Amino acid sequence: TERTLVLVKPDGVSRGLVGEVISRIERKGLKLVALELRAVDRGLAEQHYAEHDGKPFFESLLEFITSGPVVAAVVEGPRAIAAFRQLAGGTDPVEKATPGTIRGDFALETQFNLVHGSDSADSAAREIKLWFPDL
Ligand code: ATP
Repeated sequence: TERTLVLVKPDGVSRGLVGEVISRIERKGLKLVALELRAVDRGLAEQHYAEHDGKPFFESLLEFITSGPVVAAVVEGPRAIAAFRQLAGGTDPVEKATPGTIRGDFALETQFNLVHGSDSADSAAREIKLWFPDL
């Protein structure tokens, strides 16, 4: 079994899609082991997105992710990392995510793509420690 960090980003929270995302996670058969509504400060945002430091969209990404509360969750199950990324769909909600995925069904713009899921075992370990140090 494996764990992954999932975020419902500020657009997902403000649009009332938290239940939709959680429901899809549960229906897939994955388990919630932590779940919290969180304010995100600049420091947490910079650490979370450290790999994107220097990219053209970095500043607007930080501004976006700190613009309102997020729902942070640790999700567990067999191949949980890949399983959640399958539920989320590709990063670009129109060109990459297909209908039936969270992004494919509910998002239009790459920045405002509703959810985050860790992309590897290493990122999952790093991100879970960052968001839920006591877990
Ligand atoms: P996440 O890490 O949030 O699960 P991802 O792994 O699909 O998304 P990354 O390439 O890691 O995508 O990018 C992280 C986030 O940065 C994206 O989810 C999106 O919100 C934003 N982003 C990525 N590329 C762009 C871009 N070209 N323009 C604007 N925002 C972008």
